[in-house]
Amino acid sequence: MDMLSVAMVTAQVVGLYLLADLVGGIFHWAEDTLGDVDTPFWGPIFVHPNVTHHEEPSRMMKQHWLPNNVPIAIGTLLILSVVWILDAMTWQWLVFGAFGGMNQQVHRFAHAPRLRLSESVKFLQRIKVLQDARHHWGHHRSPHTTRYCVMTPWVNPVLDRIGFWRAAERVFVPVFGAPRRPDLADKLWYRA
Ligand SMILES: [Zn+2]
Ligand SMILES: [Zn+2]
Repeated sequence: MDMLSVAMVTAQVVGLYLLADLVGGIFHWAEDTLGDVDTPFWGPIFVHPNVTHHEEPSRMMKQHWLPNNVPIAIGTLLILSVVWILDAMTWQWLVFGAFGGMNQQVHRFAHAPRLRLSESVKFLQRIKVLQDARHHWGHHRSPHTTRYCVMTPWVNPVLDRIGFWRAAERVFVPVFGAPRRPDLADKLWYRA
């Protein structure tokens, strides 16, 4: 492998890491925003655990890490299975799946007491490969409408600055409704 190939692969891996953070953030935004606990399927499976996490963020750490990571592992395997069935599997999909599957665990690191974190995790947080508690806490502060991405500290500032989430609300809230967001009720485009 020559230097150019190494640089190309490295750039793609970094890009896939940031993309996994973005996709996880979009899903988190949807969980926080669309529908409510009574929405069929979506409500009990996705909204309810999310509402619980917002009400008591530290409760996540009372749950063992294994069951806490199972839903995202299943989701990742389902996506990769579809890609494989469609005969479209590439190494990029596997790398994306590996990063995406880490989403909840990295989120847990941001909620864990520092004493319980290994030196390697603290190092990765310090050099800003992983998001740390301070950055993630920006999402848990009212009004909870920024910093939806939980893996890195790099994607959130860009999305928050360009108004990405507010644009997503204009597109999807009139279609799916956002009964948990009274701040959107007076928007002219809101037709839930
Ligand atoms: Zn949230
Ligand atoms: Zn959190």
